[in-house]
Amino acid sequence: MAGLVVIGAGQAALQLAMSLRAAGDSREITLIGDEPYAPYSRPPLSKSFLKGDTQVDDLFFRPPGWFSDNGVALHTGQRASAIDPARRIVRLPDRDLPYDTLVLATGARPRSLADLPATLGNVATLRGIDDIRNLLDLLPSCERVAVIGGGFIGLEFAAVMRGTGRSVTLVEAAPRLMGRAVSPGLSDWFAALHRRNGVDLRLATGVTGVERQGDRVAALALSDGTRLATDLVLVGVGVLPNDDLARAAGLPCDNGIVVTETLRTAEPRIFAIGDCAAFPLRDGRRVRLESVQNAVDQAKHLARVLQGDTAPYAATPWFWSDQYEVKLQIAGLLPAGADAAIIADTTGFSLDHVVGGLLACRESVNDPRAHLQARKTVGRPAISPVGTT
Ligand SMILES: Cc1cc2nc3c(=O)[nH]c(=O)nc-3n(C[C@H](O)[C@H](O)[C@H](O)COP(=O)(O)OP(=O)(O)OC[C@H]3O[C@@H](n4cnc5c(N)ncnc54)[C@H](O)[C@@H]3O)c2cc1C
Repeated sequence: MAGLVVIGAGQAALQLAMSLRAAGDSREITLIGDEPYAPYSRPPLSKSFLKGDTQVDDLFFRPPGWFSDNGVALHTGQRASAIDPARRIVRLPDRDLPYDTLVLATGARPRSLADLPATLGNVATLRGIDDIRNLLDLLPSCERVAVIGGGFIGLEFAAVMRGTGRSVTLVEAAPRLMGRAVSPGLSDWFAALHRRNGVDLRLATGVTGVERQGDRVAALALSDGTRLATDLVLVGVGVLPNDDLARAAGLPCDNGIVVTETLRTAEPRIFAIGDCAAFPLRDGRRVRLESVQNAVDQAKHLARVLQGDTAPYAATPWFWSDQYEVKLQIAGLLPAGADAAIIADTTGFSLDHVVGGLLACRESVNDPRAHLQARKTVGRPAISPVGTT
């Protein structure tokens, strides 16, 4: 019997299976994942796991028995190589798998740099368990770490590396950190935080050359004219959506698999959720978000859609990042060019971005109470902040 097939056995895929079973849905569910692992949590990889505070077993969302206990067929280590919407099949290495409903939950993969391929012995990216194992193998012989990219992964990695006493140089081509996700004022605040913690931060700086020694990088030439000798290069320059299967099947893709407000692709029986999905906001903009909240909430929403709900997906986006002792939390999406008002708190602070009298986004630094409140109030009239500057 052909049932629901999910390609990708990550955060979104598991949540979909859990939500369907929690709702009493008894259809056949098959999860196909190309990693050799059951669904696991990625955020600790650049945080507690990198620090050595968590073990591999702590990463898995559910114990191995959960899948058989709940009638969910989990196939790991199997890459789907094609989908055929006309015949309703997914091509696997050893067979064609039929489906009634197909969900693409294929996530995203690290962007690479042509001059710094991960085939070089001391060049690494960080997306999954295999990547972190590779990094943990490399680290004992590394004292000087170069991080390319000042986004969340690069900054979290830099913070943990400083905690181990290694020398860290972070090179970011843009003039500020986390430029896609946080406001300029907060970028500056985080730049100062990293500098205070000893990171040699090179903003508005590019890599212009790579000096090799055998199959390793010995040094990088930077656009500021300096030579950066290094033992390890972590490339953290963003991710690309895994939309290749959808593209090959002729489904519209535009920075991700294009879906409707009910997360449906152009093929009525095929849906996409999580990091790989480009979905419409209420204001008509189309976005693709890379966050746990997005993967979980879209999976929960899709479970309802598959049970007949026609409501549009409209969850409030939120995100967090841990760097040193600082927890950054963001509720809502940062609007372009909005002025921020600072709400000071005793332990932390928040920045509110208000558009047309409505709270569009709140950025909170060590201010969890304000963040939790904003998850409920984003999109509603902004309340006058305390200590507006
Ligand atoms: C190091 C790191 C730290 C992070 N920290 C945070 C954080 O602090 N806060 C936060 O909100 N988010 C964080 N994220 C992002 C968050 O983990 C992702 O947004 C989330 O995992 C997305 O879930 P997903 O199910 O869409 O994709 P994934 O979890 O990536 O799962 C997709 C799976 O599909 C597999 N796949 C792809 N193509 C195929 C195919 N053809 N056949 C079979 N399988 C396939 C992939 O290999 C992968 O296993 C972090 C991510 C990383 C990598």
